[in-house]
Amino acid sequence: MCLSDFEPWKKFEAGYFNNQKEAYHREKERIAGRFIQRVEKALIPGLSGMIEVMETASPLTNLFYTKNPGGAVYGFDRNLPQLNSKTPVKGLYLASAWSHGGGYTPVMMAGREAAEAVLKDFQG
Ligand SMILES: Cc1cc2nc3c(=O)[nH]c(=O)nc-3n(C[C@H](O)[C@H](O)[C@H](O)COP(=O)(O)OP(=O)(O)OC[C@H]3O[C@@H](n4cnc5c(N)ncnc54)[C@H](O)[C@@H]3O)c2cc1C
Repeated sequence: MCLSDFEPWKKFEAGYFNNQKEAYHREKERIAGRFIQRVEKALIPGLSGMIEVMETASPLTNLFYTKNPGGAVYGFDRNLPQLNSKTPVKGLYLASAWSHGGGYTPVMMAGREAAEAVLKDFQG
């Protein structure tokens, strides 16, 4: 895998969501091919001949499945001071990558913090 921001995939977005994915699939295969070539050269000679099924994902895949802006895999930077479970709306608590920062651990901590805030508010 490698990290990628949304910019290089933006040009495929309209086609992706209108079921015209030929150019997008070509680009994914081009990049996957480069990965395979590098692994073949450095680690596993003949790898490409061993592959029967190949699937690749991009920020557009992440956007499709998560609805995160730009297909972000993580939420906001977890160091932002405004991240909080409590909201100005009574009875609304936040526990997610977009309230506490992305990744499993911050999201679990968000759940704990939200649960604690609920208990505190309801116990008075
Ligand atoms: C490809 C990929 C790889 C990752 N790898 C790692 C990793 O190795 N380590 C790591 O720490 N983090 C990783 N992450 C990040 C991590 O998965 C997320 O930060 C985390 O799962 C976010 O949790 P969440 O609860 O905020 O959102 P989600 O896990 O997206 O949960 C939101 C839930 O809400 C549901 N939902 C949405 N709309 C509705 C609705 N209207 N009604 C009811 N339910 C709804 C969704 O179906 C989903 O189950 C990865 C993310 C991606 C995309």
